[in-house]
Amino acid sequence: MKMNVPFFDLKPQSLSLKEEIQSAIDEVFETQQFILGAQVEAIEKAIAQYCQTTYAIGVASGSDALFLSLMALGIGPGDEVILPPFTFFATAGSVSRIEAIPVFVDIDPQTYNIDPLKIVEKITERTKAILPVHLFGQCADMDPILQIAKRRNLFIIEDAAQALGSEYKPSFDSKGRKAGQMGDLGCFSFYPTKNLGAFGDAGMVVANDSLLAEKVRLLRAHGSRPKYYHKWIGINSRLDTMQAAILLVKFKYLEKWTEARQRHARKYEKLFQDLPSLVGELRLPVIQYGNRHIFNQYVIRVPKRDQLRKFLAEEGIGTDIYYPLPLHLQECFSFLKHRQGDFPISEKAADETLALPIFPELTEDQQEMVVDRIRAFYKK
Ligand SMILES: *Cc1c(COP(=O)(O)O)cnc(C)c1O
Repeated sequence: MKMNVPFFDLKPQSLSLKEEIQSAIDEVFETQQFILGAQVEAIEKAIAQYCQTTYAIGVASGSDALFLSLMALGIGPGDEVILPPFTFFATAGSVSRIEAIPVFVDIDPQTYNIDPLKIVEKITERTKAILPVHLFGQCADMDPILQIAKRRNLFIIEDAAQALGSEYKPSFDSKGRKAGQMGDLGCFSFYPTKNLGAFGDAGMVVANDSLLAEKVRLLRAHGSRPKYYHKWIGINSRLDTMQAAILLVKFKYLEKWTEARQRHARKYEKLFQDLPSLVGELRLPVIQYGNRHIFNQYVIRVPKRDQLRKFLAEEGIGTDIYYPLPLHLQECFSFLKHRQGDFPISEKAADETLALPIFPELTEDQQEMVVDRIRAFYKK
């Protein structure tokens, strides 16, 4: 029996909350306040508490969260920021937008996160910050990164856009630390495909330092305080009241949805059990010991990735590629003069990885169909 499986489907989730969200929107309608306001303060409070930070500042997007964080740390023209090339564009784009220089460091082949062992050799007098990404929902190996930053007096901005609720917990740690709370500033995105998605663009910066938090808060509204008196040149990057109201409704279900994603990941692991021998090089996601992976994406590594993807598409199975071209090879970064071969592990990951459906409402039947079709491809 044939069954289509979409890569991602928001509709069942949105429908299940239709009335709740409608009434949250009605409330905003009643007040006619559309910028910042009580709902924004409430979601900021909820996210700060959830991330175990003292402060959270709602902003217009995850990209702006990164940009505002760099701005608040005083990073600017000529400064260097260390980051992985295997990530969403905004990680490096935000660094360039502030006229600083993205300095790439290759990734770990198992977790796809920045390789801490390769950071030190890239530090110069101009290095100001390290910008690790918690890719696909698993925290980067933060302890060595935090140590390097401390020793070399660098800032850390966490790109936790895909990692709300993720935890870092090396074996000797009694308690896990939440994504976003480990660096100087942590950045989140509520883009609709993230574990907590708005009905549009939205983002958040979290912090423990009161001065930094205050600076981000001012910079998101043109740096003014009091109104029309400007201490800094900021931008307009406020979180909409309507988005905050919707996020407040959805936040109540975040843990439940994340647990569903984790359940799907375990189910995939079970279903794939007899495949490694079949395929030879098929690799499932690796969770670093103790970590809490929130599976914003379920990314496998496969031989003949492009053929497999094409075959699955013909069979009605949606997949996606995150990311097909590492950032050091993007046309817009040609001025950095990188070449093919500069970051081989990222390049290989870009050629071999494939994201499978893992949205919370995915059914067991659908998962079985996905794995069945993958098996069929390699049996051919
Ligand atoms: C989604 C994402 C961003 C950007 O978030 P937007 O809200 O889309 O601007 C930044 N970094 C990573 C790793 C992301 O996945």
